[in-house]
Amino acid sequence: MTDWNAMSDAEFRKEVHQFFETEYPEELRHLPHRPKFAEIEHWHRKLHTKGWVAPAWPAEYGGMGLNAAKLLIFYEEQQRGGVNRGRDMGVQMVGPLIIKFGTQKQKDYWLPRILSCEDIWCQGYSEPGAGSDLANLRTRAEFDGDDFVINGQKIWTTMAHDATHIFMLVRTDPNAPKKQQGISFLLAPMDQPGVDVRTITTLSGETEFCEVFFDNARTPRENLVGELNKGWSMAKALLSFERIFIGSPGLAQNALGQLESFARGRGAFDDPVFRDRFAQAALDVEDHAALYARFADQLRRGETLGADVSMLKIWVTECLQRITELMIEAAGPDGGTVGPLQVGNVSVDVLASFYKARPTTIYGGSNEIQRNILSKAVLGLPD
Ligand SMILES: Cc1cc2nc3c(=O)[nH]c(=O)nc-3n(C[C@H](O)[C@H](O)[C@H](O)COP(=O)(O)OP(=O)(O)OC[C@H]3O[C@@H](n4cnc5c(N)ncnc54)[C@H](O)[C@@H]3O)c2cc1C
Repeated sequence: MTDWNAMSDAEFRKEVHQFFETEYPEELRHLPHRPKFAEIEHWHRKLHTKGWVAPAWPAEYGGMGLNAAKLLIFYEEQQRGGVNRGRDMGVQMVGPLIIKFGTQKQKDYWLPRILSCEDIWCQGYSEPGAGSDLANLRTRAEFDGDDFVINGQKIWTTMAHDATHIFMLVRTDPNAPKKQQGISFLLAPMDQPGVDVRTITTLSGETEFCEVFFDNARTPRENLVGELNKGWSMAKALLSFERIFIGSPGLAQNALGQLESFARGRGAFDDPVFRDRFAQAALDVEDHAALYARFADQLRRGETLGADVSMLKIWVTECLQRITELMIEAAGPDGGTVGPLQVGNVSVDVLASFYKARPTTIYGGSNEIQRNILSKAVLGLPD
């Protein structure tokens, strides 16, 4: 088994880059939508054969066992090559939780199925009235013999219509003194009569979001991960790496590159006002990359990231939105055109890019919430 962490960063980057460059199917590069599993199954099988499905998992569970520095390189190369993350909620979210808090039996059963994509997962946290204030969640799970019986509703469940299982936060003790208490972490099969999935069509016309309704749905008691009523602190434990991952510069850098080629083709740089706004956006992206490098260095030194990492997500997502607004501007009267616009050999769907940039300031903790974190934990301001 290769010890990736023993390689130099440069060697490792080269190896990852080469694999993505030569093996990833061209037609799937920079996919403008979230693919269903069937669309990327072939690529998933390749990753599985190579043992690269779970870069962050320890090698003993079938992962690559990468340290934080190598992991960043892996994700940077993935993003740079336009390599789709695939259906990775199993690998990124529920797998690490099972590794950390699951029983041996749960690890033996679920982890190999996540790696092979025999089970495809979706995340059931948000509910109507429980998004930013997630601890408000009301979906209940009650014991009935050897099962939990689940009733309630989840919303914004990404790709639930293409998932076999859901990992969810549910209320198991409605009488707990604090709302953060009395919440448990459950795994449940989607394919059962008590689960009803309805897709939500987004502004860009896609149906990646769903509402999921539970009407006496069942899951065995043994699908409780960790202790009963302790789900809240477990779910929070997952967030630390995600906070740098969602703030990585690739999003804005790729969009800026696209904007530059597109704007050149459209002659937008002849306008000094556009040139000025483009230069501002380019400097913002550079600033963000420098800030990101500082946090990445902290990880390389083995340090834990502080609350100030929230800056990354705010800055990159807001840069991305400004860049996509500039794309619309560069398109001039065609800015409202649905579908790709061709300029020379560059094809850009400006409207879809604009729409896709909107939710980035919402997911993973909205930017307002990230600002609250900064103001309290970094600046020490009162509530
Ligand atoms: C692309 C995308 C994918 C998602 N995928 C999933 C998924 O797979 N599973 C899942 O469970 N959820 C998912 N979500 C849901 C996401 O977690 C929630 O949308 C998010 O937590 C915000 O909750 P909300 O939509 O209920 O908005 P609300 O919490 O109602 O917020 C509405 C507005 O008020 C602001 N606000 C709220 N509270 C405060 C405050 N205290 N101070 C200042 N401003 C505040 C918010 O910033 C926001 O602008 C996804 C969301 C998006 C956009």
